[in-house]
Amino acid sequence: MLETVGSEVCGTDVHLFHGRLSGVPYPIIPGHVVCGRLAESQAAIRDVEGRPIADGTLVTFYDVFGTCGACWHCLVARAATRCPHRRVYGITTSAEEGLLGGWAERVELKPGVRVVPLPDGVEPLDFLGGGCGLPTGFHAIERANVALGDTVVVQGSGPVGLNAAIFAQLSGAARVLVVGAPRARLEAARRNGTDEVCDIGEIPDAAARVRFVRERTGGRGADVVIEASGNPAAIPEGLEMLRDAGRYVVVGQYTDSGDVTINPHRHVNRKHADIRGCWGYEFSHLHRALAMMGKHRERFRWRDLVTREYALEEAGQALADMEALRVVKAVIRP
Ligand SMILES: [Zn+2]
Ligand SMILES: [Zn+2]
Repeated sequence: MLETVGSEVCGTDVHLFHGRLSGVPYPIIPGHVVCGRLAESQAAIRDVEGRPIADGTLVTFYDVFGTCGACWHCLVARAATRCPHRRVYGITTSAEEGLLGGWAERVELKPGVRVVPLPDGVEPLDFLGGGCGLPTGFHAIERANVALGDTVVVQGSGPVGLNAAIFAQLSGAARVLVVGAPRARLEAARRNGTDEVCDIGEIPDAAARVRFVRERTGGRGADVVIEASGNPAAIPEGLEMLRDAGRYVVVGQYTDSGDVTINPHRHVNRKHADIRGCWGYEFSHLHRALAMMGKHRERFRWRDLVTREYALEEAGQALADMEALRVVKAVIRP
């Protein structure tokens, strides 16, 4: 098991609190991204290289288990994040099954759960500052096939958007623009290398935001646009910001927030657009994102994304602060 050092609070937890996700076996222990010390291991726990991980080591783990490796999704479509047997700590695990969420002093590690030691120099708050946005943003950028010299627009300045902006730079984007709010999150984007930000508080008109992007891209639009906002209205707006034959990745619509109208001729067919969804993340994304954090932790200040730490009794306050966007990243310290 794991002695919890900290667990993130993210937008998903706010959705869970309001019952906006289907198929959740309430009551649950929230907290799907966790950092802690390995304790009381019954059998040898090994990393992907086969090296044993000793009790007391600071680790995290891939929060997904039960992916079967035997179904149509796993084997034929090779889309393991859509495996129907896939379970996620703190989201699809009931409190009645045990300590399967990070907002607890201890977390049970189910058989088959992949444990990852934190890289040298990466401390729990660095990792939790990235949170689930770290592998999710990484996955979105992988889906976007960012090329050296691309201009990338990120819609949304929450943890997923901020991490996507970081990984866009590491993938060789020449310019990264973030469209979002509030101010504190845009300042975090700027501190982490984003070239320009578009504050939707200051530019509330969607057409004006599209002009903002086009004026900076020779009138053509961006090579890549990443939607990480959660607002369905961002989709037609993002497609207007995309250049012809550009790539658009939708990663922010984690819950069903309703329908939106797009123009299939202008937004998709004539534009020759490449539109891709991005659901969850695989172990590979967590593993490689952590390696990148280990290497680039001086350049990008993931730790500073943690606005506030909360005791377990303050979980309600943490959720309220996250919902009101008073914090960029909140961490529960049981
Ligand atoms: Zn499967
Ligand atoms: Zn999360």
